[in-house]
Amino acid sequence: MAAATKTFDIASIPADGVGHEVVAAGREVLEAIATNSGGQFGFEWRDFDWGSEYYARTGRMMPEDGLEQLKDLDAIFFGAVGWPTVPDHVSLWGLRIAICQGFDQWANIRPVSMLPNVQSPIVGAHERDLDWIVVRENSEGEYSGFGGRNFSGREGLGEVSTQSAVFTEVGCERIFRFAFDLARTRPGKKVSKVTKSNAQQYGMVLWDEVFDRVAQDYPDIETESVLVDAMAAKFVLRPEDLDVVVASNLHADILSDLGSAMSGSLGLAASANLNPDRRFPSMFEPVHGSAPDIAGQGIANPVGQFGSAALMLEHFGLDVEAKSLQVAIDRTCEQGILTRDVGGTASTHDVTQAVIDNLG
Ligand code: ATP
Ligand code: MG
Repeated sequence: MAAATKTFDIASIPADGVGHEVVAAGREVLEAIATNSGGQFGFEWRDFDWGSEYYARTGRMMPEDGLEQLKDLDAIFFGAVGWPTVPDHVSLWGLRIAICQGFDQWANIRPVSMLPNVQSPIVGAHERDLDWIVVRENSEGEYSGFGGRNFSGREGLGEVSTQSAVFTEVGCERIFRFAFDLARTRPGKKVSKVTKSNAQQYGMVLWDEVFDRVAQDYPDIETESVLVDAMAAKFVLRPEDLDVVVASNLHADILSDLGSAMSGSLGLAASANLNPDRRFPSMFEPVHGSAPDIAGQGIANPVGQFGSAALMLEHFGLDVEAKSLQVAIDRTCEQGILTRDVGGTASTHDVTQAVIDNLG
């Protein structure tokens, strides 16, 4: 008798540029994993053509009832948003941030690791076994959307605009607990909190206070508090000291791009935007953007999308499959099947096929 099939309903939103190529590649790999499961689980894909082309036709990045259309699905498999025809803040807020905020995806995780045969721009870094995770507060902080323009400032200033960073006790507490719980699952058992409270009187002062309070509930986890500027230096100079790095929306945005660049290419970095309460679907996407300079050429690195697929599998409790996908990615790199951004000559398709062949 065939085992019962669990079907995961997944929204597929490639959006813009290389998003189309890497999402298609990611779906092929996920389909292969489902086939290998011998019918234990499968994916039902729901296609959404939202993004900058949709904007050109409709004046919106997604329909008004977009969130309604997504809300009962199990996850969102996302590509990349942004195209030169649409101002960046319009495309980003109109789609990606709308989903993150609408579905209260308050935790964004971005693992940083080194792959075989991929040279890190940091000399010697590839010889160390680098492995840390940036946990990004994804719902408030510097990107809370509070502010305005057209203030009549003092004479001689012209127009004045403000953009406020908002930190709430609840928002800080939940992201810190998430970071500590994650650290408990890892060998390093350490949380590094990033701050800039030395230059503030309010926002990150609360951030720090809540961290210290939450840390008391996790005596088994080592902690440190590092200023964001010092943390940028630490990423480069002492990355082996890092395990879980928790940072505000803006700080983590910057630090995780640094982390992915250190691993050799922006095209390698994966991320998950999680609604840990599981009231709404979570979203899995590579860290990179739509890469207009290489879009449509079939040369985009799909590894960041594959890593995001692995995070999605983990989210579904398919840990064994997630691990075997990571192993298949490692093997593919070991075989030297690499796209151009990481020094190879392989196409997106070549890498995808190799990863499928390397699945256990
Ligand atoms: P965003 O504002 O959406 O984050 P961005 O301006 O930071 O976008 P990306 O679109 O990520 O930029 O591209 C930055 C550089 O990295 C480009 O040169 C691009 O070609 C390269 N790049 C990004 N993603 C990939 C990928 N998957 N494979 C290969 N190169 C990539
Ligand atoms: Mg960017």
